[in-house]
Amino acid sequence: LLKIVQYPHPTLRWKSKPLRRVDAELHKIIREMFDAMYEARGVGLAANQVDLPYRLFIVNLTADPAETDQEQVFLNPVLSKPKGQVESEEGCLSLPGLYAEVMRPERITLNAYNLAGQELSADLDGLFARVVQHETDHLDGVLFIDRLSPTKRLATKEVLGEFEAVFDDRRRLGELPDDAAVAARLEELERLRC
Ligand SMILES: [Zn+2]
Repeated sequence: LLKIVQYPHPTLRWKSKPLRRVDAELHKIIREMFDAMYEARGVGLAANQVDLPYRLFIVNLTADPAETDQEQVFLNPVLSKPKGQVESEEGCLSLPGLYAEVMRPERITLNAYNLAGQELSADLDGLFARVVQHETDHLDGVLFIDRLSPTKRLATKEVLGEFEAVFDDRRRLGELPDDAAVAARLEELERLRC
């Protein structure tokens, strides 16, 4: 089963290339991404959060696995026409327990493809706009902590240090591959579908 990787796993800093190939295996991966997201009680999940280099994310704003008609998959998303600025609290499944106010455009236009290969375009606001921006950031290797004001960033320093210590320990125990091994695997997966 897919596992959600936590900060500072290097895949979270991977800049994903557009997908060129959607196959049955990818459909299966996306189903597993939804399962992992629901288990963690999230409303959005990007592929690199499950250690995959694909330019896609999933959303279900209800976080309820019973609400399958609210499940959305966005492939190769492109954001444009940001309007307004609004600050709101964010968290991330790759930084469990950490929450902070992040300033972002209030409204945004999203262009993407769905799993059926249909192009879609939507003007978004509210929670949907925020989730889509947070997830698209992931695909560029950007985390919400990168967007905090210097003061708020400073306030997260201790918690981030704890995540880093846990990660270093797991590496020392051989539970996590080194950076070169992570990159080699992601590049191989990229060659297959991007
Ligand atoms: Zn996140």
